[in-house]
Amino acid sequence: MDNVHRLGDGMVNFYLVEDDDGLVLVDSGLPGHYAMLLDRLAGIGRTVGEIRAVLLTHGHLDHLGLAERIRQESGAGVWVHPADRAALAKPLSAPKAERSLFGYAVRRPAAIGVPLHVARNGGFRTPSVAETRDIVPGAPLDVPGRPLAVAAPGHTPGSVMFSFAGRGLLFTGDALITHDGVTGGDGPRIPSRAFTADSAQALRSLDALAGLEATLLLPGHGEAYAGRPVFAAEQARRAGAR
Ligand SMILES: [Zn+2]
Ligand SMILES: [Zn+2]
Repeated sequence: MDNVHRLGDGMVNFYLVEDDDGLVLVDSGLPGHYAMLLDRLAGIGRTVGEIRAVLLTHGHLDHLGLAERIRQESGAGVWVHPADRAALAKPLSAPKAERSLFGYAVRRPAAIGVPLHVARNGGFRTPSVAETRDIVPGAPLDVPGRPLAVAAPGHTPGSVMFSFAGRGLLFTGDALITHDGVTGGDGPRIPSRAFTADSAQALRSLDALAGLEATLLLPGHGEAYAGRPVFAAEQARRAGAR
């Protein structure tokens, strides 16, 4: 992964992308990940001030933790699909999901580790984002690398993926993940219903994924997937809604 840095921890990923024109963050982890971001920037001789944009795949807490802080410190634009914009104004309002986490935790107690992890890393103190920029899917964004935003609603109404086609990179956010901390499932899949607004729609959005060209898929949760999007989409369809 040349000039792409995976940040976060075993539970949630976000990514720092280096481009000739500046730095871009894809998602922004949890508030507790700030020191890690500074360390990684220092390691490549860069600073927070060089971050030009924070691209959010969607409006969930575990993806927008550092967005407002970076916006204030660097002047970076925080980009989000308009359908998820309200979540950035009120990060702590419970997102709509098809099922309660409780039912999952009864069957698999480790599922409760997901909200605990968010809490331990300051997730429930995530500041709202005071100013955002609208993502228009289907067009390249005016940020370093000029990634294409691809609509992939379902997990949330405003879920998007970011394609850096020239580099073979596709950031899938939670439209496609490779590890689900709620079910414990590994391999390409959509997130469980405990955190998904509309699973049927999320499965349909895999069609958009299958139509893209990339050699490496970088998800919001789990390991990177080296392979073509069409194969990842097929595996995710087979895994189905959980
Ligand atoms: Zn999510
Ligand atoms: Zn997530």
